[in-house]
Amino acid sequence: MKVLHISTECYPAAKAGGMGDVVGALPKFLPEFKVDASVVIPKYKTKWIKNQKWKTLHKIPLEMDGIKYEASVQFLKDSTLGFPLFTIDIPGLFDRESIYLGEDGNGYSDEIPRYVAFQRVVLDWLLIENEFEILHCHDHMTGLITFMVKYCKKYEPLKHLTTILTIHNGQYRGIMDWEWKRLLPDYDEKDGGVLDWDGQIHSLATAIKCAHAFTTVSPSYMEEFIENSDRLTPLMESEKHKAVGIINGIDDVSWDPSTDPKIDYHIKKSIPYFKSKNKTALAEEYGFKTKPILVGFIGRFAYQKGADLLAKAYEQILQKDKSFHFFILGSGDKKLEEEMIQLQEKFPKNVTSVIAYNETLAHRVYASCDYLIMPSRFEPCGLNQMYAMRYATIPIVRHTGGLKDTVPDIGDDGNGISFVQDTVEDIVYSLERSKELYTNKKALKSLREKIKDINFSWSNSAKLYSQLYKNISK
Ligand code: ADP
Repeated sequence: MKVLHISTECYPAAKAGGMGDVVGALPKFLPEFKVDASVVIPKYKTKWIKNQKWKTLHKIPLEMDGIKYEASVQFLKDSTLGFPLFTIDIPGLFDRESIYLGEDGNGYSDEIPRYVAFQRVVLDWLLIENEFEILHCHDHMTGLITFMVKYCKKYEPLKHLTTILTIHNGQYRGIMDWEWKRLLPDYDEKDGGVLDWDGQIHSLATAIKCAHAFTTVSPSYMEEFIENSDRLTPLMESEKHKAVGIINGIDDVSWDPSTDPKIDYHIKKSIPYFKSKNKTALAEEYGFKTKPILVGFIGRFAYQKGADLLAKAYEQILQKDKSFHFFILGSGDKKLEEEMIQLQEKFPKNVTSVIAYNETLAHRVYASCDYLIMPSRFEPCGLNQMYAMRYATIPIVRHTGGLKDTVPDIGDDGNGISFVQDTVEDIVYSLERSKELYTNKKALKSLREKIKDINFSWSNSAKLYSQLYKNISK
């Protein structure tokens, strides 16, 4: 069975978050279950993409909205990725360093034509040459493909293909005014309603309607999304027979504390020694003391991630208790970035705020911290908690989505500290619990040993995807 993953991210070529990790890992684990998977992404100007040798396979001229683009399909020769990677080069639209954000930190103003152009060129390529049976689309940015293969006259020869959508984050939906219809190839007017939700072209809703199946990246997030996805709830209710929640795995080769080239010390026998060596290296570089309990946060400063609550909770706790050092690595909302810097200025001995996206530093933080905190308001899967556990770092998480599926509370013989409300009080209370656990050396030791050995490998999830592919392509 041959599957093409169509995505706007794929690690290490282009990653902005968890979707990049998934698309860069899942295809490596599918062959074990007799599925050959390839990946196609836009050709950005990321460092990694620039450093590779690309072979042009097809030149594909595209005319859209009166503008002519000289697009091409390129293939990575000598790939060490473990799967074939294709890129779609569209000069003028994708030859930029950043995947989604312009210099002002906001999404690109031409994101609609960018995504439509990418999807059209992918399908134009498949008209010329196609070895795939399943098109696996990721998030709304590639969701219109499911409509185009079904209803656009030009793509009639691809009508037999099976399509599947994975929702990595249902908050982003790709909604556009009907005037953007002009970017799409012709289809029969009677089918236009399929594109519509709430009076607009709705990429995510369209894909939920058209795909043969759709998945979310954890079972609990699927339940939550069916129950309440704002204006999509009625649609989810009617399409739930096609819904499957599959938890993400982690790439346990790239994220292996015994070989990870990004961390300062590899794990050998002793977890406390591994922690203390990594913590010391990080503390020396960032100028903080190693005695306090080190709590890390890695992620986007966005409403979803609850970083605003965190800043308030840290402030509250540090007013009275200096037994923690909080290491914050993230970027996003400008006001929050400012707040995190101010927090460090206010408590220089107990807070380190690094406003950046830094892959190597992230690995070092996972390896060094005693705890990793994720106060997410919602979390489709969350990978950080799994990386943390593999590095014997205890997660403190809000009980939602994938965090609920991977981190039951220690009170239930679980893997970490879990809290229910998205409030400052619950975060402060959880930090107090983490302090209590930290002083109980026996419990701390056994929990670290337990979580380090949990198998979050992709093999389990790849098996579920392979079964789904088989079921829907029957
Ligand atoms: P998201 O909602 O952002 O996709 P996930 O938990 O699914 O969240 O994945 C986040 C991924 O991005 C993880 O690999 C995490 O380590 C990485 N990440 C997030 N923020 C940063 C950052 N500032 N620097 C380095 N890596 C980061």
